[in-house]
Order: sequence, then C-alpha cells, then structure tokens
Amino acid sequence: MKHIKGSCLCKNISFKILNECRYSVLCHCTICQKSNAEFSNYTKVKKENLKFISKKKLKWFQSSKNFKRGFCLECGSSLFFQSTQSDDYTAISTGSLDKNIPSKGHIYYKDKKSKLTFSNHLKKFKSSANGFFDKFIYKIK
Ligand SMILES: [Zn+2]
Repeated sequence: MKHIKGSCLCKNISFKILNECRYSVLCHCTICQKSNAEFSNYTKVKKENLKFISKKKLKWFQSSKNFKRGFCLECGSSLFFQSTQSDDYTAISTGSLDKNIPSKGHIYYKDKKSKLTFSNHLKKFKSSANGFFDKFIYKIK
C-alpha cells in the first residue's frame, strides 16, 4: 500500500499516512510559534488514512478554544493538531514524516516572525484560510 511513515524523535509515537493527505500549509500564528518554531508546516489527514503503530506516549494539550495539539510525553516532539469537537481529520507536522509533502500556501501571514522570504507562487492568507486549502489533495506515490 502507498504510504508515508512518521514518528516523534524517540519513536514512541509512530504512524502511517495511507493513500493521500492535504498539501502542506505553513502557519505563522503565535500559537504555532510557541509550540513548533517560528512557523509550522502541517498536512491534514482523514481519519481512515491515519494508522497508528504506537501512541502510548501521546498526550493532547488544549491550545485554544476549539483545538488541541498532540505531543510526545517522552521526547516532547509536537506532532498533531486537531479539533476538540471531532477526530475526522488530524493535522500532522510535516517534520515528523519521512517524505516531503509539497506546500500550497501560508496562513496567519500577519503574524509572520521569520525573516525568511518565501516563493510568490504560494498563496498567502492574513489569518485563517477557512478551509481554502482542503481541496488540494496530494496522492501518495
Ligand atoms: Zn517521542
């Protein structure tokens, strides 16, 4: 089966993304800055396409009113972002994956802290994209 593997630094959390995922989106919001780095890079995966191999060290932290972030209790890697209302989709930090997922754009560009310059080919949203990127599905080869 076509898949991409992912894990935290210590591998106590490991998983596979099956078949497809959303193209990645870079987020510059101030919460991602604290949780990940000056910006984060997430793909998004449907529930049926995310298969955990191990998640005994997975801990969720509610980081805002409607969202939570998943991290490893052992090594501290920040891996996941998910609605507190539904587990239909999980956003996954692309740094945890063994393969690159191409990017389609930026969100919360108004909060951009990094001085890096980015390609003009990527779409930039000042704040939330309100699902704009959900239609860009990357087929795993
Ligand atoms: Zn770990």
